[in-house]
Amino acid sequence: MSIKSVGKIQCSGCKRFFVRDSIFDMHRAGKFKTGKRRCMTDEEMGSLGLSTEKRLVRIWIEGEMHLEEYDVWYSPVARERTRQAFRPLQGDEEEVKSEQAI
Ligand SMILES: [Zn+2]
Repeated sequence: MSIKSVGKIQCSGCKRFFVRDSIFDMHRAGKFKTGKRRCMTDEEMGSLGLSTEKRLVRIWIEGEMHLEEYDVWYSPVARERTRQAFRPLQGDEEEVKSEQAI
């Protein structure tokens, strides 16, 4: 089993983790204008095609790095697109998991 750890984005509201800014942006619902921005529910995020996976996240506590496992939100669709785009360069070293997009 390979363990990848990457610095993740955490929402200060719902405390969820996201693989990247664009996924974080997707989970915020409502309009800036009305000041009623809120975090989506798991169900709403699922309906956007987002999913979670267990990932090790770097947590800095008092200057020390800790690795902790969290559910991290990502987009299976975007990942597949990236995988397709880079396939000629990467070869097939990485085990390709089949992930069902919701
Ligand atoms: Zn949030």
